[in-house]
Amino acid sequence: MNQVPRNIAAAARTKIRIEGVSMTFDNGVTALERVNLELAENSFTCLLGPSGCGKSTLLGMIAGFVQPTAGRVLVDGAPVSGASADRGVVFQEYALFPWRTAIGNVEFGPLMRRQPRAQRRSLALDYLALVGLAGHESKYPFELSGGMKQRVAIARAFANSPSVLLMDEPFGALDAQTREILQGEMVRIWQRERKTIVFVTHSISESLFLADRIVVMATKPGTIKTVIDVDLPHPRERTEPGFIALEREVKHLVREEVDKLGVM
Ligand code: ADP
Repeated sequence: MNQVPRNIAAAARTKIRIEGVSMTFDNGVTALERVNLELAENSFTCLLGPSGCGKSTLLGMIAGFVQPTAGRVLVDGAPVSGASADRGVVFQEYALFPWRTAIGNVEFGPLMRRQPRAQRRSLALDYLALVGLAGHESKYPFELSGGMKQRVAIARAFANSPSVLLMDEPFGALDAQTREILQGEMVRIWQRERKTIVFVTHSISESLFLADRIVVMATKPGTIKTVIDVDLPHPRERTEPGFIALEREVKHLVREEVDKLGVM
C-alpha cells in the first residue's frame, strides 16, 4: 500500500472537493459522517466498501441528486446544487429508452441540447464505435445483451461531453467474463477521453484493475477508512505479483468492515 500521493496526482488540479460532508436521512440513518476528499482532474477513483457504507450516497452528492445535511461538494471550485450535464451518470440498470435504437439513445442528450442532426449523428456514431458497437447502431435495447446495453449507456454518457463521469456499480449486473471485458474497455476509453471518473464498486479486483486511487470506505457510519494509490501500470494483469499483493492488503481492509457488519 502506498499512502503517499503520486507526484502526478499532487501536481494535478483538484476537480472535485468534498468538504466535511455528512448525510443523515429523515429516518435517522447516518449514511456519511464528515467525509473529506479531493479528486484530481482526469483521475480514476473507485469508491470501495461493503453494501451500506454510503458509496452511492456520496456519488449521488457529486451528481447533485442528494444534498448533504452538512458540508459541501465543489466541482471546479463551485458548490454542487443540482444535476448537470457536465456530470454524466451511469447506473447498474441500463436505463436506456426501450423505444429508441442504440444510436437514438446516444443521440438523446445532444438532441435535447438542439445540436444539428448531422453533428449529433456523427458524434453518436463515434462514441458507439468507441465502445465497440459499430454495426449495432440500429438495434433496440431488447435486441442487445446486457454488456451491449451497458456499452450504449456509457456511449450515451460520453455523448453529453461531461468532464466528470459518475458510475454506480455499472458492471454489477453482468456475467464475470463480460464484466472483465468491459473493465478493460473502460480503462482504454478513459485513457483516450481523460475524464474525471468516480466509480462505485464492492469488487476489490475491479477497483484494483481500474483505479489510480481507491477510497476504501468504513461502515456505520460511512467514513473514509483509507485512500490507496494504485501505481500499477495499465493494462493491469490480475495474476501479477504486485496486483496480488495489493489485493491481499485491500481484502484485509474491506474484511474488517464486513466483519463490523456482523454478516457473512
Ligand atoms: P452503498 O452504496 O455503500 O451500498 P448507500 O449510500 O446506498 O450505501 O446507503 C448508505 C446507508 O444509507 C444505508 O444504510 C442505506 O440504507 C441508507 N440510505 C440510503 N438512501 C437512503 C434514503 N433515501 N433514505 C433512508 N436511508 C437511506
